[in-house]
Amino acid sequence: MTGRTLPVLDMAPAAARAPDAAGPSDARVTEFVTDDQVLPRFHVWTLGCQMNHSDSEEMAGALLAAGCSEAPDMASAGLIVINSCAIREQAEQKVIGRMGVLARMKSADPGLRVVLTGCSVRADGLVDLRRRYPAVDLFLRPDQEPELVARHGLDSVTAVGRAAPTGADELQPVGRLMAATADRLPGTRAAAVETGAVARRSSSHAWLPIIYGCDKTCTYCIVPYSRGPERSRPFDDVVAEARALADSGVRDVTLLGQNVNSYGHDLPAEARFAAVQPRRHLGRDLSLEGRPDMAELLRAVDAIRDADGRPRIPRLRFVTSHPWDLSERLIAAMAECPSVCEHLHLPVQAGDDTLLRRMGRQYTVGAYLELVGRLRAAIPGIALTTDVIVGFCGETEEQFEHTLELLRTVRFDGVFAAAFSPRPGTPAARLADDVPSGTKRERLNRLLALQEGIGLERNQAWVGRRTEVLVDEVRPPRSHDHDPGETPRPRVAGRDRRNRLVHLDGDPGLVGRLVEVEIDHAGPYALTGRLVSGAGDGR
Ligand code: SAM
Ligand code: SF4
Repeated sequence: MTGRTLPVLDMAPAAARAPDAAGPSDARVTEFVTDDQVLPRFHVWTLGCQMNHSDSEEMAGALLAAGCSEAPDMASAGLIVINSCAIREQAEQKVIGRMGVLARMKSADPGLRVVLTGCSVRADGLVDLRRRYPAVDLFLRPDQEPELVARHGLDSVTAVGRAAPTGADELQPVGRLMAATADRLPGTRAAAVETGAVARRSSSHAWLPIIYGCDKTCTYCIVPYSRGPERSRPFDDVVAEARALADSGVRDVTLLGQNVNSYGHDLPAEARFAAVQPRRHLGRDLSLEGRPDMAELLRAVDAIRDADGRPRIPRLRFVTSHPWDLSERLIAAMAECPSVCEHLHLPVQAGDDTLLRRMGRQYTVGAYLELVGRLRAAIPGIALTTDVIVGFCGETEEQFEHTLELLRTVRFDGVFAAAFSPRPGTPAARLADDVPSGTKRERLNRLLALQEGIGLERNQAWVGRRTEVLVDEVRPPRSHDHDPGETPRPRVAGRDRRNRLVHLDGDPGLVGRLVEVEIDHAGPYALTGRLVSGAGDGR
């Protein structure tokens, strides 16, 4: 139960509101009394991608900096923040399915406040949001998340988390819809980092956002509408954040964005980047000269070294990479920087040129395979993972077979596959969603079965070999591993540089350590091994 009723402040200037935005100010604002505060306990429920998890760390950090404490679950929270995913209808239904419970919780505790943010909240369609999410008090678009604290009157406690209201000038058309420009996010991130208002969930691994939004043309995808056009964070801000992470002992950093490979194209040209003359070899041409690019950024973070010349962040990753922007410069930086992990997630989406064209992906199967060849030549043993959509509009059996063929050819280490889900407002929503759901399901199962076999074979090749694991979690002991009455052996798990999940016997003291593990068992999705040394500390 909460001690007081939080206001939900309507900060947008009247002229700046979207036409269907909130009506008169919320009467509950009058209930707000600045003194006599009992700060709410909050709980953030995060769905979807790594960017959402990173955004949630920032929201939780702002609430903690404002003096609130974190509740372990929704039932004990006075402020519930739902960071939603809208990539597929199924993800939205997960949240819609909680509306009844949340409404009952609110009747029992009228002070409870529910905020919905993330990709389900877009500039257009507030009326529809109210209908789909009736238990929600406040909707914040992803670019409005920095307003979370101020919109609840909590920034009176501390200036941290204060953010100016967003206005209509921050909206711009993307296709037929309006989307926020995300212009403020690089600045609000820098302020959050500077004030320590990022509640990181791990002390050994960190997400580091480098670019917000997406400029791509994928016809099925809602992200450009929910997160707006691409906005890169200033180069020096990213490097400074990486240096601070190194100082705090973080060993594994993932540079984040919907499209990290196009990092920097929107930043001003500077003399110090005069040597950057990249050429795109897929899709539309774009002037990128004299601006920092992803390759420069990898090299700059890799150059944060200790006195012995070793990278202070021994593992550097980046996600997600659109094949369109994967330059030769970037492949060279991956190969030459010792901290950059030997893994790339490179979404292909389909293995058929007609489908790829209809999806607006701007490359052909042949061009994708060429890229894979260049990556494997430059970085021997690199692990490749991908995303695939099955049952996209008009997908024939033969076209689907081409996707299976691509999987057999590339032999990915992992595939994230899902059935196509039409997203209202996207170009593909105007095409016929004509692959029956039973066929989508059946194709998805065939694809997953094929990949399971490939994944198993690839993992089995590691049995008897050693790999370096960053232990990051304690696992429950396995009941079949010990006799009744015997004390179960403690178990831990972590990832190797190729991003494979590795289980091993070991005590919780290993968490946060880089250890050498000899693999003795392989499954399609994970490896099991035994600790051979705790000394691994680099490649
Ligand atoms: N930016 C990345 C890229 O280059 O493709 C992907 C980011 S997207 C948030 C994650 C994945 O969701 C996509 O790769 C795609 O496979 C999947 N996805 C996006 N829209 C979808 C839809 N309407 N139906 C099914 N899957 C979808
Ligand atoms: Fe969506 Fe395509 Fe942008 Fe990825 S690149 S976020 S799939 S629009």
